[in-house]
Amino acid sequence: MAFELPRRLSPSKVSSFRDCALAFRFSTIDRLPEPPSLSATKGTLVHAALERLFCLPAPDRTVDAALACLADAFTALRPEPDVAGLALEGDAEAALVADADRLVRNYFLLEDPRSFEPIGVELRLQVEVAGLELVGVIDRLELDAAGELVVTDYKTGRAPTERHEHRRLGGVHFYSLLCEELFGRRPARVQLLHLQEPVALTALPSDQSTQGLRARVGAIWQAVERACATEDFRPRPGPLCDWCSFQAYCPAFGGDPADAAEAAEAAAAGATATGEAVASGHDGVGARAGSPVLVAAP
Ligand code: SF4
Repeated sequence: MAFELPRRLSPSKVSSFRDCALAFRFSTIDRLPEPPSLSATKGTLVHAALERLFCLPAPDRTVDAALACLADAFTALRPEPDVAGLALEGDAEAALVADADRLVRNYFLLEDPRSFEPIGVELRLQVEVAGLELVGVIDRLELDAAGELVVTDYKTGRAPTERHEHRRLGGVHFYSLLCEELFGRRPARVQLLHLQEPVALTALPSDQSTQGLRARVGAIWQAVERACATEDFRPRPGPLCDWCSFQAYCPAFGGDPADAAEAAEAAAAGATATGEAVASGHDGVGARAGSPVLVAAP
């Protein structure tokens, strides 16, 4: 019996499949929930703070206002599974907030949020390309001085080394493709704002990059279809295994993948009984709190 095909692809799902097909299966096909992590929760907090910041009038977007937005975001997220599930106490909770505080302050070293007006924040875009549904959340969309679209993505993890920079920007090109399909306009610029260092990485989408991305997404989708038809999702042991929450079901760690579906069903039944949402950390779409805000049509 073949596995059911996932209904859609997001940038994080594309990279999850490339990193390890078996981890993709656990996350996307079996829908095995992943426990909340400090790094993902910190990212959620910082994104929520910057989303709130851009809902303020431009002159009010100061560092102090951003830190007040962060405090608001933490209050709102504290009872949610992402934060509550970490069961942080005392110093650990203070350390999380202090780290998020540092990243929000670093953001101001990259740009002045009072100097431009976004046309949308936390935009959830969904388009159908060649029968495949592509989805992604754009952190921020604005028009530059020439009236061209600019896509911005905030990153709270470390910036990639030069060797991996191209691959990381591939995710942002994905957002460019979504804009092109939805709005009929290719963004002039896509940028990743890495808040740890802080450093901005910028790419200029072109016919070549868009065609290359379409071809890559098509090839990955064919590989997913093949893997589902043959039920053949292979493990790819490597450095990412250290952070993988599916080791208990992975043959590379002595586990049995057949146990994953049963565990996912049990988790879903437990979540339904307690009214909790089951998070899927490998997707990234819909994992953030807050609502998309489209200020104006591009
Ligand atoms: S432990 Fe490693 S090989 Fe196994 S599923 Fe996770 S990432 Fe893949």
